[in-house]
Parts: sequence; C-alpha cells; structure tokens
Amino acid sequence: MKFNDVIQAGDWKGEKHVPVIEAPDSVDKEESVSIEVSVGKEIPHPNTTEHHIRWIALYFKPDSGKFAYEVARLEFNSHGEAVAGANEGPLYTEPKGTVTMKAKESGTLMAMSYCNIHGLWENSRQLKVK
Ligand code: FE
Repeated sequence: MKFNDVIQAGDWKGEKHVPVIEAPDSVDKEESVSIEVSVGKEIPHPNTTEHHIRWIALYFKPDSGKFAYEVARLEFNSHGEAVAGANEGPLYTEPKGTVTMKAKESGTLMAMSYCNIHGLWENSRQLKVK
C-alpha cells in the first residue's frame, strides 16, 4: 500500500474535495508571490462538527530536483464544537488561506487536503520562474 493508493484526485469544478491552487502562471526569480489554496471554491464543502476540512498542505517540487519541499500547512481547527454539543459552537474556520513565497526556479506547486471523513485529495499546477 502506498499513499498513491489512498490520495484521490479530480477536477475541482466538479468534485468539492479537490484543493484549488490559485497562483500566477509565471513570476520573476525571487519575486514575492501569493498563492491561495482552498477547498470548495465551486461546490462548497460541508463545514460541520461531523464533516469538515481539517488541513491543506502546500508543497513545491522544483523542476531540477527530486524532492518536494513543504511550503506551508494550514490547519482549520474550529467546526462548531462547544460544551453544549456538536454544531452549537460560535465558530467555523473556512478551508482557505494565502501563502506568500519566493522561488529561485520553476517547479510544481502541489496541494493536499484532508476531509475528516473523505480522506486525502490532491491537486497541482506549474509555476514558471523567469
Ligand atoms: Fe468531505
């Protein structure tokens, strides 16, 4: 069994779990670039105590190297929990955030998200560095 066997993929426009990576297609070398990652951009994912997105991790795999680097991890930690019970709480974190980075060379941005009941999902997009 490999991670490959349990990580799902798909088109985010039709599958609400797929993480969306929004970034420019190309940037200048060492230019500060903001990358937005989210789940549920087209079809909102539920956000309840019983069913929600726990985290999104963003990685960068430079074209010249073998290894992926972890850019950032976003954890979404409030989903209506309260002493009074499930979904009675005052707060729901939404699965969305912006990460700012600089790259010295072109590569692939890769995102992985985790739904507490539907598991792991991935997406990727190229980032060209001039
Ligand atoms: Fe789900």
